[in-house]
Amino acid sequence: MSVVAVVGAQWGDEGKGRIIDLLAAKARLVVRYQGGSNAGHTVINPFGTFRLHLVPAGIFNPDVVCIVGNGVVVDPTVLLAEIDELAAHGVGVANLFLSDRAHVVMPYHAILDRLEEEARGDQRIGTTGRGIGPAYVDKVLRVGIRMVDLLDPATLRAKLKTVVALKNQLLTRIYGAPPVDGDAIFEEYRAYGARLARHVADTGAMLQRGVARGENVILEGGQGTLLDLDHGTYPYVTASSPTAGGSCAGAGIGPTRLDRALGVFKAYVTRVGAGPFPTELTGTAGEALRERGSEYGATTGRPRRCGWFDAVLARYSAQLNGFDAVAITKLDVLDEEPAIRICTGYRLDGRVVDTVPASLAEFSRCEPIYEEMPGWRRPTGHVRAIADLPVEAQRYVARLGELIGCPVELVSVGCSREQIIVLGEVFG
Ligand code: GDP
Repeated sequence: MSVVAVVGAQWGDEGKGRIIDLLAAKARLVVRYQGGSNAGHTVINPFGTFRLHLVPAGIFNPDVVCIVGNGVVVDPTVLLAEIDELAAHGVGVANLFLSDRAHVVMPYHAILDRLEEEARGDQRIGTTGRGIGPAYVDKVLRVGIRMVDLLDPATLRAKLKTVVALKNQLLTRIYGAPPVDGDAIFEEYRAYGARLARHVADTGAMLQRGVARGENVILEGGQGTLLDLDHGTYPYVTASSPTAGGSCAGAGIGPTRLDRALGVFKAYVTRVGAGPFPTELTGTAGEALRERGSEYGATTGRPRRCGWFDAVLARYSAQLNGFDAVAITKLDVLDEEPAIRICTGYRLDGRVVDTVPASLAEFSRCEPIYEEMPGWRRPTGHVRAIADLPVEAQRYVARLGELIGCPVELVSVGCSREQIIVLGEVFG
């Protein structure tokens, strides 16, 4: 029985959703701990194909209690649409709970997100424009609206009075944009509160009770480690902490209760939005990988930049998160490659480095040093045991584990639930 953080180990989109959907068969609680509807987990299972932005990927197992933790920022419009979509496919949400302490994404957040991004000009971060960053800003500014406030009209009205006045100053005087209507927002969000009331709870207490009972718990990350606000490739990062360290604060659990951290790595690397990417493949090589891997954003549809596996970043991520084990996803996407490269170091201004520079200027100048392995040029999507993989694929997986520095426990060879090779017991 254990508490396992499932963490994106690269720049997000590693396939955490499909791994959590699988692991949820053995869990009792799944808690999403950070991010908002800027993240999108694609899950393909017997219920259908889903792009979950807020609801934890454990929702398909009716025995699992799914929690949207205090560290998440919740856009009620997206959440309600997701609940409706799940219901339309026969997936119930009676076991879905939202932290009363989670902050709410408000209409002015999305407006400001777009205006701020425009104002950055060529320093644009490439945000999804959904208001997630500005919602976290308000949390830190101490003017955020929390789920608990949506249930209490008097508090909601009072808080909105202050914050809407503040936002309208910003909108009209700084950006020359029209103001928002505080009364309309109050009515709309009060109604969301009424609809979501039965899901709102003290989820930290629920989680702690589950842990005390010795239940298997998954802490579900959004985005990925290299987008971490502190440790990622700042400023091209997200506004929260997707790392294992962030999982405790965002779920409401003490760090001593976390038993394991499972890192989810793609067998290659992708990145959405701007920022340095040493192993990026441009031109037809990158396009081929993008097409075979269907590398288009689950939330925005934006094409993802694709490149070879970067072991420098992978080690950085493994150490930062303290990974005990890893899952490698999308191995099948490499099936047709005649030769596969892995970046094992960088050449930076004539020196060889194997760490990630904090300076973006330096990171942009890092040139990958590659080792090359032969490809397998055979399909792997049907394989269910490691010994049945082509020997070149077995060697590639083993080499990734060696470079990352921890055991590979899962290898995914396709997007459906059964396309998985299990090498270890994640719950210990
Ligand atoms: P997440 O946010 O980390 O859950 O990742 P996304 O859902 O944004 O992106 C992962 C995409 O890869 C989804 O479309 C999955 O269906 C797909 N996927 C996951 N694992 C595999 C795999 O092993 N092989 C293939 N071909 N696709 C996969």
